[in-house]
Amino acid sequence: MVAEKLYENLATLLGEGTISRTSGDIQEHGQDESAHTGHLPDVVVWPRNRQDVQAVVGWANEHHVPVTAWGAGTSVEGNPIPVQGGIVLDFREMNEILAIHETDFQVTVQPGVLYKDMNRKLGKLGLFFAPDPGANASIGGMIANNAAGVRTVKYGATKDNVLALEVVLANGEVVHTGSRSPKQSSGYDLTHLFAGSEGTLGIITEATLQLAPLPEHYSAAVAAFPEVAQAADAIYRIMACGLEPSAMEILDTYCVHLLNREEHLGLEETPTIIMEFCDASVSGLEERLTMVEEICRDVGCMTFDSGVGRDERARLWEARHRLFEILVRSHPGQTWILSDMGVPISAFPEMVHRARELSEAAGVKGVINGHAGDGNIHATYFFPPEDLETRAKVERVVGDLTETALTLGGTSTGEHGVGLGKQKFMVREHGTEGVALMKSLKATLDPNNILNPGKIF
Ligand SMILES: Cc1cc2nc3c(=O)[nH]c(=O)nc-3n(C[C@H](O)[C@H](O)[C@H](O)COP(=O)(O)OP(=O)(O)OC[C@H]3O[C@@H](n4cnc5c(N)ncnc54)[C@H](O)[C@@H]3O)c2cc1C
Repeated sequence: MVAEKLYENLATLLGEGTISRTSGDIQEHGQDESAHTGHLPDVVVWPRNRQDVQAVVGWANEHHVPVTAWGAGTSVEGNPIPVQGGIVLDFREMNEILAIHETDFQVTVQPGVLYKDMNRKLGKLGLFFAPDPGANASIGGMIANNAAGVRTVKYGATKDNVLALEVVLANGEVVHTGSRSPKQSSGYDLTHLFAGSEGTLGIITEATLQLAPLPEHYSAAVAAFPEVAQAADAIYRIMACGLEPSAMEILDTYCVHLLNREEHLGLEETPTIIMEFCDASVSGLEERLTMVEEICRDVGCMTFDSGVGRDERARLWEARHRLFEILVRSHPGQTWILSDMGVPISAFPEMVHRARELSEAAGVKGVINGHAGDGNIHATYFFPPEDLETRAKVERVVGDLTETALTLGGTSTGEHGVGLGKQKFMVREHGTEGVALMKSLKATLDPNNILNPGKIF
């Protein structure tokens, strides 16, 4: 359907003011934060409530027009790029916290609520939503991608903290999944079918989330190692001892160098682990930190600093969250390929070793960092867009690395989702039968293939 006609139809349905086809709005919704090729939608709609979503989706289904949900557009795998055009549903206006169930540590929100804004409000009540992707993502986008982050090692990924959803299906009908009970074993787990489905099975219009109390006593610690392999080994040992960090990040020398340069952290420029521990008592916290230091020194760390105070801790994590932006900024005019493998924790040192070995063998420079405590490693490769030879090498390395992760019992994507970049690994990871089952679920829930078409498969 031509864009003008589409606009007219939607304006009749919703009234003007919530729809746009101006060049600025269209451009803004054609590209996420990834280096994947963008694609413009025909029309952008800002729904005000669930009824607007139902009206648009129901109409689009009848007329076979693609509908792609849009949260904050911070994805790094092309997840919200409307590759077949049509309608983008931007949830910016549906950004209310509907209820805080303070005594149950829960919150019910609209999908456009931004993660950091929500946590600022919850912090006043001593509560927070733990999955922390770093970017100020929307809750809808986080659920749809099953985002994770630095605190997943203790609190789980987004999916693990979603209790109930309101979802508009492709035919415009509404389903309510889950409940506010922390334990649920009633029927098929529809909540977690929609979570992680990247907007391809239904549109989330409301979510109830599990929160956590802000920890009473906590401390960050930083350990510097001569080699990345030793850092990886220390991570495995800390996890194996059950010391339960609330964050455990690995950075290679280059990442530390960039953070020093841009954020003035003054860290030793060698492979480094940044971690955080919390406890109900000061003595418990100190005991943990002593054991962690012993492990790090045993493995050969050069420096260990655990007296990181509140302000310094905040500065450290803010800087860590900016790492991806800093990396991109430090390679002007270059494109990149970002891998996101996840492996069982015992395989983490092996994965780090292979990432270095394969990159060196291919003659390409991979920047290594990761949410190491949960086995998640990113190797990122930068190169000029016109350098097809390097691109081919990088693609081979990322393919080999993913193959390694899968052989070690892991996954091709620990947190960024399949989007456009990880589609080529789906059959290898899930088998033809697994992918066929996913496709049949998609066909059942979205027979006209209108919801974020061209993704996952
Ligand atoms: C600097 C930086 C650091 C990052 N670090 C991390 C990290 O540590 N961990 C991590 O996991 N990710 C990270 N990301 C990626 C990104 O923040 C996450 O993938 C996040 O979940 C995207 O949320 P969003 O609101 O921006 O969603 P969008 O990018 O707008 O959309 C994401 C997906 O959700 C779908 N969607 C959006 N809203 C809805 C809805 N209401 N219903 C159904 N589907 C919907 C979209 O169609 C799309 O498929 C980072 C990104 C940046 C830029």
